[in-house]
Amino acid sequence: MGSELKNSIFGCPRIEFLSSDPVKVDPVKVMHEMGIAMSLYRTCRKEVEKYGSGRLQKIRLAVGELSAIDPELLRFAWEATVDGPDSKCELEIDWKPAVQQCPKCEEIKPRPDNSWLMICPECGSPLRVEGGYELDLLQITYLSDSESGETAS
Ligand SMILES: [Zn+2]
Repeated sequence: MGSELKNSIFGCPRIEFLSSDPVKVDPVKVMHEMGIAMSLYRTCRKEVEKYGSGRLQKIRLAVGELSAIDPELLRFAWEATVDGPDSKCELEIDWKPAVQQCPKCEEIKPRPDNSWLMICPECGSPLRVEGGYELDLLQITYLSDSESGETAS
């Protein structure tokens, strides 16, 4: 299964789109997202099977900023992973940024994208980092074989 999967990543026409992107795609990184996509797919299938049989339509996933997951690569890996009747299953990602909170002011301090504040701009206390590690399957929408839409949360 491993080598078959590898072929399907690099044989997939979408890799051209990814590699022409200014951000270089690291194959090791893609494999990381591939592993996550596969495990996610297994989990979804298992959940749906609890309700009988059906095809996946959409899943919603919370992905944290500090989870070391690239949403675009995960989307790509997901499309390469789902197959058969599930191949149209949409992956919706809720991006969860980490927040920086001051323990003294008890306020969440806004920060510029992709950078961290070292200390609280108001009182100079070191800031706490909260959240951002999410990798949570929030919702699975599937169509049961009797063709009626069902939602498992
Ligand atoms: Zn403060």
